[in-house]
Amino acid sequence: MNRRTIRTDVVVIGAGVVGTGIARELSRYDVDVVLVEREADVAWGTTKANTALVHAGYDADPGTNKARFNVAGNAMYPRITQELGVMYKNTGTLVVATAPDQVPHLNELLERGKANGVPGLEIIGRERIVELEPFISSDAIAALWAPTGGITSPWELAIAYAENAVDNGVTILLSSPVTAIDVEGGRAVRVHTPDTTIDTQFVVNAAGLFADEIAGMVGARDFNIVPRKGEYYLLDKRAGHLARHPLFPVPTAFSKGIVVTPTVDGNLLVGPNSQVVEGTSDLDTTAAGLDEVITGARRLVPSIPLRDNITNFAGLRATAQPSGDFVIGPANGVPNFINAAGIQSPGLTAAPAIALEIVNLLGEAGLKLVEKPDFNPIRPRPARFEEMDDDQRSAAAARDSRWGHIICRCESVTEGEIVEALHRSVPCTTLDGIKFRTRAGAGRCQGGFCGPRVVAIIARELGISPDAVTKKGGTSRVLVGPGKQQCSCSCGKCADEGHVGEGETHA
Ligand SMILES: Cc1cc2nc3c(=O)[nH]c(=O)nc-3n(C[C@H](O)[C@H](O)[C@H](O)COP(=O)(O)OP(=O)(O)OC[C@H]3O[C@@H](n4cnc5c(N)ncnc54)[C@H](O)[C@@H]3O)c2cc1C
Repeated sequence: MNRRTIRTDVVVIGAGVVGTGIARELSRYDVDVVLVEREADVAWGTTKANTALVHAGYDADPGTNKARFNVAGNAMYPRITQELGVMYKNTGTLVVATAPDQVPHLNELLERGKANGVPGLEIIGRERIVELEPFISSDAIAALWAPTGGITSPWELAIAYAENAVDNGVTILLSSPVTAIDVEGGRAVRVHTPDTTIDTQFVVNAAGLFADEIAGMVGARDFNIVPRKGEYYLLDKRAGHLARHPLFPVPTAFSKGIVVTPTVDGNLLVGPNSQVVEGTSDLDTTAAGLDEVITGARRLVPSIPLRDNITNFAGLRATAQPSGDFVIGPANGVPNFINAAGIQSPGLTAAPAIALEIVNLLGEAGLKLVEKPDFNPIRPRPARFEEMDDDQRSAAAARDSRWGHIICRCESVTEGEIVEALHRSVPCTTLDGIKFRTRAGAGRCQGGFCGPRVVAIIARELGISPDAVTKKGGTSRVLVGPGKQQCSCSCGKCADEGHVGEGETHA
């Protein structure tokens, strides 16, 4: 393999919501930035598997990084999500006490929240809870109401951050695991991936579950990442009405507890539990774990119907030991290597504020930050058939017939959206990449019907054979061998069932 060498000012390692946010904030300045990601797409680490809540900020102990960046990040969500065309709903959140001995804990959270600077917190009684949440348990007696809490789409945010960063000049390298970092004279000077050497002035470590390994590459493994797994049920939109706000139980020492929440797409999400696991790849769901999740969730909303479950998944929290707090700042002895590590919950909420802090820290470490006059903070929301009214749908289909051609019937995703997603500024080459960008395959049938049609469109648009299309990069091929018939024409109909092989002539 031919190695290439490139030169940059800053390498950001890891394209989760933290790394992409940092890259985007850096793209405001006249600075060369390379964002390096081991996976075939952005947002495939912890960013794709969490509760998607924008926390208000009453959980963390005052004075911690978690508390500071949670409250600051929360306040940034309305603007950031508007600039980047990302779904966000300021629903407010409730911590619900279901037994008298839990009520004093609500007061503790209220006081902690006030100390952290969370606005608008109040304790409410059962009558008000039922007004807000008609399906709440009859045991609910009081709740902490946090009006600044909300919900968002974590992968939408990371994809939008990455696209906006690339549109503003950042280089992104996907399928590029960092394997080594050279340190010379106490500074990180070179980052290696299997095919590229990157000469750099600064390195940012936003590698999530692997951030301790990356810090170890510069001899500064001052913390260990301990993964803590959380499992979920995702229910059909039919059950979406059962919670109007994220509903928390009173938290434990280890977790905010099992949450029942609407998603921005209208599903009901239930979870997570919290379990220390050995490896960074243990994303299995277990019968015992899921039992714990549904039992906990039904203490808040007893009528959750498991027959409406459409999928289960798990995410891993990257807990930094020994501190348990976010690790943000230059590594000991390597001042140009900046950690954004141990970003467990509320890291999604905190990410926009962490990005600003990392840019400040790079400036303090000597990076020259001159604003670019042509920085464009706006990344328009990609059009979605599901979000259009009838007139908009007719107009879109009249302009381009592919916008009238439904591929994913569960989520009403058209061929037009899939084609558009395949040609944006961050490369999208996989079935999962299409799912996270368009929701094709994210609905009730989980891709059972649309999967083969999406594979055909990816193959056609990227000019590859269908059996080279993967679910999530690497060796995750969707087809194990050539299909009976393959078609790479661009007639726009070939993804239709029955079209191929009916006698049409294909170019
Ligand atoms: C169960 C659960 C529930 C949560 N719920 C919430 C919530 O509701 N609200 C909230 O605010 N937060 C929540 N969080 C926390 C939130 O999900 C994380 O804080 C956030 O996603 C962390 O983003 P990140 O970019 O640091 O990590 P990641 O998304 O894991 O990104 C790190 C990236 O680095 C890449 N990488 C790793 N090693 C290398 C390498 N050698 N070379 C190149 N790239 C590499 C990975 O592939 C990955 O893409 C939750 C977390 C979990 C697990």
